[in-house]
Amino acid sequence: MLRGAKDSAPSTFSNSGPKLSGSEKQRDTRMNNIIAAKAVSDVVRTSLGPRGMDKMIQDSNKKVLITNDGATILKQMEVVHPTARMLVEISKSQDIEAGDGTTSVVVIAGALLKACQTLLDKGIHASSISAGLQVALDKAVEVIDSMSIPVDLNNRESLIQNATTSLSSKVVSQNADILAPLAVDCVMKIIDKENDTNADLRDVFVGKVVGGTVDDTQMIDGCVLVDRKACTSAGGPTKMENAKIGLIQFQLSAPKTDMESSVVVHEYTAMDRILKEEKKYIIKMIKTIVKSGCNVLLIQKSIMRDAVNDLALHFLAKKNILVVKDVERDTVDFVSRTTGLTPVASIEQFTEEKLGTAELVVDDRSCRSVRITGCPPQAEGRKTVSVLVRGSNQLIVDEAERSFHDALCVVRSLVKKRALVPGGAAVEMEVSQKLNLYSREIFGIDSYCVKAYSEALEIIPYTLAENAGLDPIKFVTELRNAHTKGKTTAGVNVKKNKISDMIELEVVQPALVSISAFTLATECVRMILKIDDIVLSF
Ligand code: ADP
Ligand code: MG
Repeated sequence: MLRGAKDSAPSTFSNSGPKLSGSEKQRDTRMNNIIAAKAVSDVVRTSLGPRGMDKMIQDSNKKVLITNDGATILKQMEVVHPTARMLVEISKSQDIEAGDGTTSVVVIAGALLKACQTLLDKGIHASSISAGLQVALDKAVEVIDSMSIPVDLNNRESLIQNATTSLSSKVVSQNADILAPLAVDCVMKIIDKENDTNADLRDVFVGKVVGGTVDDTQMIDGCVLVDRKACTSAGGPTKMENAKIGLIQFQLSAPKTDMESSVVVHEYTAMDRILKEEKKYIIKMIKTIVKSGCNVLLIQKSIMRDAVNDLALHFLAKKNILVVKDVERDTVDFVSRTTGLTPVASIEQFTEEKLGTAELVVDDRSCRSVRITGCPPQAEGRKTVSVLVRGSNQLIVDEAERSFHDALCVVRSLVKKRALVPGGAAVEMEVSQKLNLYSREIFGIDSYCVKAYSEALEIIPYTLAENAGLDPIKFVTELRNAHTKGKTTAGVNVKKNKISDMIELEVVQPALVSISAFTLATECVRMILKIDDIVLSF
């Protein structure tokens, strides 16, 4: 059968001379594409799983980052080969769709490409392989669906287990007991458990502060202005209860001309007049602010010049108004939504309706930030929440924030599709096992492709075991054996170095993560297979 396929291959190309060389070129292109894409997959393979390695990446600005996240590693790598870039892209897509499984998707794609190479060598046409892969994918998704366990969003424990699995393979895995419940609580806070089918993670603000340890990470019911402080240079307050918050986008200082110009003053009286005018101008603005009832003033960062001068600060302090300046533009939207304020672009529009409210605004020096808590319920029932990630140095804080984001995404995946599957390669092995059986039920090239797909999936248990320093062949065969005997939830227990029931071990992941990884990897491989020439057009 094998030989038959191989023998028949040349005959399909052998009509004429030039055509044959064209086909060879196409084959070369395909093979080169596969090799390039596989190289990318090999880079991230060693970081799969809880015992996987981390990567230290230095970018062109000499900035260093340590990470275990496939999407982050690939984003930082300057991949130039166009097909290899496709693997970087699927990792990105997985990050957007599911947030986790960004290494797995690339590793699966790499294994599928290797399988395709063998199929192509057998003389099977690329289009037929592509179709066969789709058959395998459809069956794989069916298997995942059939083995997935429904999740109730009120079951906090189960959600935490999912988030913990995602965090267990990160640099900050030892802090999972703090970060996982936080991620669950944050997502549960912003959604309506009964009706929502998605969670908008823009409603969770994640701020980073160096100092303390990751265990000091905390949730804040409201918002937090990181690296900002209440202006105290003129003796203004640092704490305000029953706050009425205004946010201005204009400057609280004397107006300046549009063009760069200088005014030369020759006499003291003229100087006096200018100062008096400036004072009058600022007092008029402050009066408007006071009249509105505002007692906390946030001033958006101005790129042109200082948004507020000492004189204005002095008057604001006298009126007991808490001032925070240089509020970053990208936090304005979040602050507005949380407190219910409307940013004001000119002093004439500064009225009471534009103000937001909060029970407490306080300058928290221990976290170098300003907290706004006790905000009113929002319009349209939307809720927001903030998290302040702490860590002993910038590298840890950055990685903790990325890992926390993954954990949030995992919980969001469960909101999107309320089902989970066993982790630790149990789902991959089960799908592999079922595909193997399926390949015997169908005929023709599809059967070959489904079988190859089934074998390719063993890369996940193989790699998990390999990365944990175990004997991969022994573990893969043992696991396969367990699944053949009907133990659908058996997986690689990398902590105890044996095959265990993953549900009992509480290693579970959202079904969406696995489905998305399989789908994206297959789509990408099918696309790569169909490319038979690369045309450079620059
Ligand atoms: P990805 O970026 O694909 O999420 P990870 O490095 O997070 O890559 O590894 C995920 C893989 O590790 C999944 O197959 C998951 O089932 C497995 N895994 C996670 N935690 C455990 C665990 N405690 N024991 C065994 N396998 C685990
Ligand atoms: Mg992960």
